[in-house]
Amino acid sequence: MKVPVVDPDLCTGCGACVDTCPDVFEMGEDDIAVVKNPSGAEEGEIQEAIDACPAEAIGWSGQ
Ligand code: SF4
Repeated sequence: MKVPVVDPDLCTGCGACVDTCPDVFEMGEDDIAVVKNPSGAEEGEIQEAIDACPAEAIGWSGQ
């Protein structure tokens, strides 16, 4: 299964991914987004969040 991952070194904490997929991403410590539930949204919806991330901090991991 593909799961989204956030690179904490790239994330600027803008919150866009949380707005797009609030059941997948949440703001964690230091205002860095974290994945709380990798299956909280359809893959296409998560891909939208990935594409919209201004820091290109989100990617897919695993298969
Ligand atoms: S959209 Fe990208 S930069 Fe913004 S909070 Fe999410 S992972 Fe971080």
